[in-house]
Amino acid sequence: MDSLVICTDNVATDGSVKSTNKKNISRDVESEIENLCKAVPQLAKTFRIIEKIGEGTFSSVYLGEARMRDGSREMFALKHLIPTSHPTRIAAELQCLTVAGGRENVMGVEYCFRNEDHVVIVMPYMEHQAIVDIIGSLSFEEVRLYMYHLLKALRHIHQFGIIHRDIKPNNFLYNRKAKTFALVDFGLAQGTSNTQIELLKPSTAHPPFSSSTTTTSSATWKALMKKTRVVTTTAGASTSRTKHTKDLVALRKAPRPVFSEKNLNSSNSTAATTTKREVKTQLVKPVKTGELSSRRFLSGRGGPATVRPLKTHRGVRQPLICNCFQTERVCNICLSRKQQVAPRAGTPGFRAPEILTKCPDQGTAIDMWSAGVIFLSLLSGRYPFFKASDDLVALAQIMTIRGSRETVRAAKAFGKVVLCSQELPQLDLRVLCETLRGQRPSKDAKPISKTKPETTDEGAQKQACETPRPHPKSRDKTLKPSSQRDCLVHDERGWDTVPDEAYDLLDLLLDLNPNSRITAAQALEHPLFKDL
Ligand code: ADP
Ligand code: MG
Ligand code: ZN
Repeated sequence: MDSLVICTDNVATDGSVKSTNKKNISRDVESEIENLCKAVPQLAKTFRIIEKIGEGTFSSVYLGEARMRDGSREMFALKHLIPTSHPTRIAAELQCLTVAGGRENVMGVEYCFRNEDHVVIVMPYMEHQAIVDIIGSLSFEEVRLYMYHLLKALRHIHQFGIIHRDIKPNNFLYNRKAKTFALVDFGLAQGTSNTQIELLKPSTAHPPFSSSTTTTSSATWKALMKKTRVVTTTAGASTSRTKHTKDLVALRKAPRPVFSEKNLNSSNSTAATTTKREVKTQLVKPVKTGELSSRRFLSGRGGPATVRPLKTHRGVRQPLICNCFQTERVCNICLSRKQQVAPRAGTPGFRAPEILTKCPDQGTAIDMWSAGVIFLSLLSGRYPFFKASDDLVALAQIMTIRGSRETVRAAKAFGKVVLCSQELPQLDLRVLCETLRGQRPSKDAKPISKTKPETTDEGAQKQACETPRPHPKSRDKTLKPSSQRDCLVHDERGWDTVPDEAYDLLDLLLDLNPNSRITAAQALEHPLFKDL
């Protein structure tokens, strides 16, 4: 703050940015910037707002230039949060940045401006590339480095008891040339039970989607901002409300998901995996094994039935049987069931199985799953990898890769009953990724049991699926090179020589059971990173 001087030479008297500054920016963005400057006049006195660099559901991010005291110019990212964001939520985001940010690949914060319900978080600007634009040209070495740095950021925030909840490439900035990385966007972060972030503690934490209809008092704001330990500035001008609800992502060049709703339901899917059959999944609250009704359902005989314990007027939970499963109508019994509630913020394709199944206790392992999905995307060259509008479709997509029996077993471990209308075998991750990359013909993408020869290796792999995994350090590190690698298409970016360690780590990240899923600290110790 000390070295920053107010730079007004490009700001008109009304606070708006002079149009001469704006190159190639649309009218819409131009007026948005003007509105922002009116809403937070202090901002325009300090920064020359050059362009809009990001837009999500809860914020718009702009590039701003400030002239420093020594005459140099510095670039900043100005994150304008939607005015309906809950003050505690905003303060919690700031607190994550101030307490954990600025090191270990986690973005820091410089200042914060507020005028009435408009808040702008000022961060150092980091030039970065969108993964969707570069995924096709990344080398394996770049991917390995990317994952290493992502895991470092995760280890760091998890040490503070921060669950990010929205780990995806858009929130992990990557400057390919400078090889720099930064985790951003703590807008959905939650605290673990022993979090060090005061505002993420259960007593203060607010749901991320709550909106305040009344304007928060200045005193409340001051108290909250004080807790965030960030230099804050407030201005006294009147506000103008702006709406930021468009999604820039949709304007980007069309991504090619491996999965989409269509892939699962139509027969002309291009996915090289066995996703062509229609798969139906259903979530049921667990009932005691041995109960007649549950056995009847799981065996699939006598017409499928959904069994869920319901509260009777005496308060005793009793299972109620219905026959609406796989029919077009939801029966009254099902309609009267109480909704299960559990946190589910985040981006659908990156949600862990325990989120999709509404498991109420979720921990830092959910970020590890998302890191696994990113790794899967980078190894296969497909982004986004999973794309589903509905949690059960998302779960079915996961099953297609990780196997339905494995998913059912893992869900049982965290207290959920998942039913799948047909069995989907677990896929060999190497074969899957190499096939999607075009390294091998698509006929190779077969379930593990069919692609792997009957060797002791298979026995070990099968066992690894069925028993809880030991600590990664105790795993056999003498991984043998794939017998099928010789036939791969030669690739200068190293995609024909991906070591087994990469797929081993991927398998550990995409562990369906959060209790045995690898932690960030353990992942950094993985043999894949031994030289880093
Ligand atoms: P949202 O909650 O709206 O997703 P983010 O904090 O993720 O907001 O920011 C949205 C986008 O803005 C990011 O994906 C990134 O492209 C850009 N961005 C955010 N912070 C920075 C920064 N410090 N430097 C450069 N770009 C940034
Ligand atoms: Mg974001
Ligand atoms: Zn029913």
